[in-house]
Amino acid sequence: MKIAVIGCTHAGTAAVKTIAAEHPQAEITVYERNDNISFLSCGIALHVGGVVKDPDSLFYSRPQQLAELGVTTRMLHEVVQVDTAAKTLAVRSLETGEEFMDSYDKLVVTTGSWPVVPRMDGIGLDNIQLCKNYFHAKEIISRSKEARRVAVIGAGYIGIELAEAFRELGKEVVLLDNMDRVMAKYLDAEFTSLAEEELAGHGIRTALGEMVTGFEGEDGRVRRVMTAGGSYEADLVVLCIGFRPGTDLLKGQIDMLDNGAILVDDYMRTSNPDVLAAGDSCAVRHNPTGKQAYIPLATNAVRMGTLVGKNLLEPIVRYRGTQGTSGIKLFDLNIASTGMTEEAAKAAGIAAAAVTVREASRPEFMPDYEDVLLKLVYESDSGRILGAQVMSKADLTQAANTLSVCIQNRMTAEDLAYADFFFQPHYNHPWNLLNKAGHAAERQRAEAAAEAAPADDAQPKEGVRKTA
Ligand SMILES: Cc1cc2nc3c(=O)[nH]c(=O)nc-3n(C[C@H](O)[C@H](O)[C@H](O)COP(=O)(O)OP(=O)(O)OC[C@H]3O[C@@H](n4cnc5c(N)ncnc54)[C@H](O)[C@@H]3O)c2cc1C
Repeated sequence: MKIAVIGCTHAGTAAVKTIAAEHPQAEITVYERNDNISFLSCGIALHVGGVVKDPDSLFYSRPQQLAELGVTTRMLHEVVQVDTAAKTLAVRSLETGEEFMDSYDKLVVTTGSWPVVPRMDGIGLDNIQLCKNYFHAKEIISRSKEARRVAVIGAGYIGIELAEAFRELGKEVVLLDNMDRVMAKYLDAEFTSLAEEELAGHGIRTALGEMVTGFEGEDGRVRRVMTAGGSYEADLVVLCIGFRPGTDLLKGQIDMLDNGAILVDDYMRTSNPDVLAAGDSCAVRHNPTGKQAYIPLATNAVRMGTLVGKNLLEPIVRYRGTQGTSGIKLFDLNIASTGMTEEAAKAAGIAAAAVTVREASRPEFMPDYEDVLLKLVYESDSGRILGAQVMSKADLTQAANTLSVCIQNRMTAEDLAYADFFFQPHYNHPWNLLNKAGHAAERQRAEAAAEAAPADDAQPKEGVRKTA
């Protein structure tokens, strides 16, 4: 059985390793256009900021390791055409230019994503960088040596991490976004305003609600970022405005979302029975809404890649969907989120409500503790948990993982209120923060029910409404 795999970063590596383990007789060939596999992009900002000294540690697999599993890895080889009817691939060597054909019984598409590059004046100027792969990491580091003023465009997780890294290197940093809040996709305003204060407190200028319209340069090199409202001097610009699935090879041959994200079923099968796909090249099932969405994350990529291997020949292990759970460390703040923000839930037309709990990270009788802010977003009617956000100088980010599991299993605020969590004064309170959020939501639901009920039945009681 011939298996061809296109692309070998997180989804590809996970797929290849699982296929080799589960189907030792398979003849596996991997085509990768880069000169490396399994690069951890999440380490770019850490490397730029000097936290990770050795870039070699940002790879967790090598072609030699795959060879030990019997896998042939053709590095610097780009797949330039796929014919799913004939089950063939056209491949070009990026070293020699030679082109050849290959065939497959099963094709694995793990071609990932590529940064969005807006069409605008000056986009081709030198020192405007993308941030995705190892090559980009090296370019950013070498160009930042000469740069005094850095503009990071896009205030999502990646932009925020880079802004912090550049600031740690002593650069003048401006972080621009057309949204009026940082990390607006993952956090509601009460969290993003604290994150913005943290950025400002560390000398990072933010230019929010400003649409970048182009760039101006001198001697071919960028000097200024132009926005609808003004301009910002910059010797180096890094674009972090999002990703697009890299699926042109399969366009018109398998089903996709409008943005090109491949649609897969719960077993990673595309609309063609001999083509499986995983990772950033695909849409994922977003559990809070039950809809297909484009949420490119390494966590999805490794899960989906592994499932490609498990389900290569027949459906065996089911994909559980995603909540898009993410975490970030911003200077002293530990931040994590899962599922939908209140703003996103309401924008999606869901009747949602939210509660926010503020408390000390552990009992005040302990010698020290930190403030914690946790928000729980739930469906008003059923109490089903839709999302959560947590922020503290104490690392309570694992709470987002717990709540991710709650969302995946369609738990309600009442379930959360009475879930069994440990207590130990070093870590928390007898009523765990998550229990408290569940109770607060239940109280709020009871009050809403009482308000909606006839006057003689208007006593707010916890749990007065039945949950779904
Ligand atoms: C700066 C940064 C920080 C991030 N931080 C996090 C984080 O902290 N947590 C998290 O969960 N996610 C993070 N992500 C997202 C994560 O890196 C991606 O979700 C992940 O890389 C997706 O893996 P993938 O294998 O699906 O695709 P990709 O990483 O895009 O890899 C696709 C591979 O396919 C190859 N390829 C494509 N087309 C062809 C072709 N025609 N022929 C041959 N080869 C081809 C490419 O060269 C590439 O190696 C971060 C991303 C970036 C850029």
